[in-house]
Amino acid sequence: MGNSVEENLKMVRRQIALACERSGRNIADVQLLLATKTVPLDKLQMAVQAGERWFGENKAQELRDKYSLMQQSKEVEWHFIGHLQTNKVKDVVKAVTMIHSVDRLKLGQALHNQLVKEERTMDILVQINTSYEESKFGATPEMAAELVESLSRFETLQVKGLMTIGKLNATNNETRQCFRLLKQLSIQIKEKNIPRVAMEQLSMGMSGDFGIAIEEGATIVRVGTYVFGPRYVPDEYYWNENTEIND
Ligand SMILES: *Cc1c(COP(=O)(O)O)cnc(C)c1O
Repeated sequence: MGNSVEENLKMVRRQIALACERSGRNIADVQLLLATKTVPLDKLQMAVQAGERWFGENKAQELRDKYSLMQQSKEVEWHFIGHLQTNKVKDVVKAVTMIHSVDRLKLGQALHNQLVKEERTMDILVQINTSYEESKFGATPEMAAELVESLSRFETLQVKGLMTIGKLNATNNETRQCFRLLKQLSIQIKEKNIPRVAMEQLSMGMSGDFGIAIEEGATIVRVGTYVFGPRYVPDEYYWNENTEIND
């Protein structure tokens, strides 16, 4: 991973193209979202220069710092992909076009309250814990449809699909089962024809498993390490912050 951001991006795009080819999918239906937690701004700017436009952050504070600095690049859009505490909603709503990690009704309510104040709407994905790992955020697969339905009643929230994180340190087959489950859930929810709910997006797949995710129907893959190199911060820190979890 000693290569430049630009070279790494070429490899990722090539892997995306190959996965699309393997699974008979149109490459235009798979969007690359760069996961940028802990990545310094000069590297983000390299990615912008190389043509990338979608960036995802995990923390409200880091998003705020990077957002203002990255605003020079007008086409850049930010997504929020981390665990979101209700008291951080205001900062996040200001900066992003989509939140991938809505996993509970209380967060939906907090987002709605803020969005009403700002007289706008927000695209959201509902995060599902498809691996049933205790360390992971996300609604259980069993609760998915009910949560989507409840969230859809907030008229400022536009549910666009589902998001998941594949099982960690798992076999390819276990990972594939997670993604397959997310796809099945999205089909089941779509069949319910819930007003104002679209099941268009499946946000799944990271550096280690985005090829499998694309084979299983991902429309957004979230890639960090493969492009920017290792992070020197344990991933668990982002997925299992023990502060204010149940707010
Ligand atoms: C960090 C992160 C990613 C990217 O992970 P890599 O393994 O670095 O590609 C994707 N999704 C979420 C939610 C993340 O926190």
